[in-house]
Amino acid sequence: MEHFDITRWTDYVRGLSPPTERESMARHIAEGCESCAHLMALVSRIHQECTEDPAVPENLVKAAKSVFPTRRAEAASPEWLSLPLLAARLVFDNMAGLAQAGARAASEHMVQAVYHAGDYAIEVQIEREPESAEMAVVGQVVNRDSSGVVLADVPVLLMARSKVVARTQSNRFGEFCLVCRVQGLKLCMQIEEIGKRVEIPLTRIMEGLQ
Ligand SMILES: [Zn+2]
Repeated sequence: MEHFDITRWTDYVRGLSPPTERESMARHIAEGCESCAHLMALVSRIHQECTEDPAVPENLVKAAKSVFPTRRAEAASPEWLSLPLLAARLVFDNMAGLAQAGARAASEHMVQAVYHAGDYAIEVQIEREPESAEMAVVGQVVNRDSSGVVLADVPVLLMARSKVVARTQSNRFGEFCLVCRVQGLKLCMQIEEIGKRVEIPLTRIMEGLQ
């Protein structure tokens, strides 16, 4: 089964796909591809939140920047980085997981992974624009033990060693998006309700990116 990448789903939800492509994408969803349906739902929510911006972005990296403004990373790290660590473990990535399922990765420019940390599940999708050094790190934080309730307003950081390179907060759907250029990153977030932090090293799954 051939999948469609996040750039094409972004065009799709904005009504910019060529008619034949639009048809095959609609058929693909109708045939029940869950990963593409998930991607489409994600970009359409991002697109909806983006409608106040009159400048229509060219691709997801730009869309992400306008929806989730990249604040200047402050030199000082937030205090919550000293909270106790809640260990995160990789439970799925599309390099191993899809190969086992006999399917192909959606795109060589994109990796997807799911981590579990205590009662929380963190989905991460990293997309690299083919012609760009920039990467979009899109994710969602959900509670695993109470029927998938999402965690809104979670502070999320991308760090390279001990330096904060991008920061944001999850939106009301528990989704976050960060744009960065640096390799060797880890994702850090504060889980306020249990007074802990989660750290997810992204280096290994980023190796899957072309
Ligand atoms: Zn698909």
